Amino acid sequence: MKVVTIDGPAASGKSSVSRELASRLGWSWVSTGAFYRGLAFVAQRTGTAVDDEKALVDLAVSDVWSVEKDPENTKVVFQGADVTEHIYKEEVGAAASKLSSLAGVRKSLLEAQRDMAKSDEWLIAEGRDCGTVVFPEAPLKVYLTARSEARAQRRASEQGASLEETQKAQAERDRQDATRKAAPMQVPESAHVIDTSTLSLEQVVDEVQKLAETSIGSI
Ligand code: C5P
Repeated sequence: MKVVTIDGPAASGKSSVSRELASRLGWSWVSTGAFYRGLAFVAQRTGTAVDDEKALVDLAVSDVWSVEKDPENTKVVFQGADVTEHIYKEEVGAAASKLSSLAGVRKSLLEAQRDMAKSDEWLIAEGRDCGTVVFPEAPLKVYLTARSEARAQRRASEQGASLEETQKAQAERDRQDATRKAAPMQVPESAHVIDTSTLSLEQVVDEVQKLAETSIGSI
């Protein structure tokens, strides 16, 4: 299986690291969070409640929306329009975290997530359960973590939002993601854990690239 997984909590740098590493190696990458964010966005637009499991499962497999790999940012298309710019807001992340705790919803998105790896090129898949559930056979698994202030600072400055509120929202999202029964966020067995609190993006990418070259080079 030609997949490297990168899991970790909110704003731990998963997308930035995946984007940069994919560009260096000529691979593709996908944010599995975009599936949950996309569904949360579409639910909002169609007036579907974030706890209505049956309706969400129907919506998850409906062809009114889709997720597409992209070198810059995983894209979400809804009714033919690119809605990507709307899904990365923290309020959509919060709604995504709520509906992602429903086992039926997770199951209904799994196949489309796995389809992202159905090509001959290497894929970097990032999220919360990529190494544990989506791609348990991946030959390299990475888990990124960082102190909560460092993570909130990154996201708050990216989005021009208040530091305190961002930190509060992320803490709540991490708590939900780590304590849910269905596929909770956890460090996959055999994952390489990297604390990015005091590292630059380049340093983190260098480290993951080294891991990829050693572990994949030997497969
Ligand atoms: O990674 P991102 O912040 O975009 O993810 C948004 C939300 O989607 C997470 O807070 C989490 O609840 C959910 N998610 C998940 N499993 C994944 C990726 C994301 O439950 N593999």
